[in-house]
Amino acid sequence: MELLGKSKNELRDFCISLGEPAYRGGQIYHALYVGRKSSVREISNLPASLRERLPAEATITWPTVRQTYASQDGSVRYLLGLPDSGADAKRKSGPASVEVVFMPSTGRQTICISTQAGCAVDCQFCLTAQLGLIRNLTPGEILAQVLLPLELHKAQLAPQTNLVLMGQGEPLLNFDAVMAALRIILDPEALAISPKHVTLSTSGIIPGIERLAQEKIRPKLAISLNASNDEQRDSIMPINRKYPLAALLAACQKYPLRPWEHLTFEYVMLGGVNDSAEDARRVVRLLANLKSVKVNLIPWNPGELPYHESSPESIEAFRKILVDRGVPAFVRYSRGRDVMAACGQLALLNIAPVNANGAATQH
Ligand code: SF4
Repeated sequence: MELLGKSKNELRDFCISLGEPAYRGGQIYHALYVGRKSSVREISNLPASLRERLPAEATITWPTVRQTYASQDGSVRYLLGLPDSGADAKRKSGPASVEVVFMPSTGRQTICISTQAGCAVDCQFCLTAQLGLIRNLTPGEILAQVLLPLELHKAQLAPQTNLVLMGQGEPLLNFDAVMAALRIILDPEALAISPKHVTLSTSGIIPGIERLAQEKIRPKLAISLNASNDEQRDSIMPINRKYPLAALLAACQKYPLRPWEHLTFEYVMLGGVNDSAEDARRVVRLLANLKSVKVNLIPWNPGELPYHESSPESIEAFRKILVDRGVPAFVRYSRGRDVMAACGQLALLNIAPVNANGAATQH
């Protein structure tokens, strides 16, 4: 049995099935998610008889690091080889790969993780879309993307870890696996990352937003808006034809925010497409009925796609229109551009690796 990704209850049941007391499941849970053990042989908090038996009964599978790309800004992009799944064996390209980006900064590190290999959503400005959906990740594969960089960088970890679900894939289209992983990530007895420091970003999958609203323990929510009207959004985010702006914003209006929480809207600035003063005024009108919102303006990161960057002047003028009309707006420059680790650049690209001792999609 694969242990990584299992909840405490599942591990208790596993121990009972071995004829062991249920509380041993709690000890394995601690070893997996606090001790970051990557092999059953490393689990040292169990009695000798169980430690001898465990390798025949269970495995812990971390992905392999296929390539490491270190950015000049300190970010590191890891290309991870996933364990072979049954479906992978049938695919010509073999087992799936996925990307995770580690971004250190003063007092904290931010890890950007993927929730699917590739993505089916087809946002026109995002390189990941060109991969199509390869497959959903399992809870263990999602968790491993947090555990592995924390372990690789353990000598330099800052006290706070931020997590963003903004890598490859649409998290709300892999809802059950994402929530199973998040319950462990947010559990004070496991990875213990605060919900205030975990952000799930969606392209606007309304049924997923409604399901997330019902979860007792959940991350913060960010909506990838990127357009100021339906016509524009239809052309750059075809998902908008299924979940148009009026319905999306109605779901946002109903979304239950906690007292400390903002609903974040992300807006990728595409030169000449969605960055005019008129676009900014329309965004203000779109968000007028929502409480506690903020807007992150994300300069588009170049890739081989038919777009160009907005000028710094247009971005600042856009931001000022929002702020002057009472909508908090910030410009967020992505990190790791030079190693294709920035927003919208995660497409398994092989560029010349540099030594790393130690790097998000666009939504
Ligand atoms: Fe998928 Fe996100 Fe890229 Fe859109 S921006 S194609 S949802 S990975």
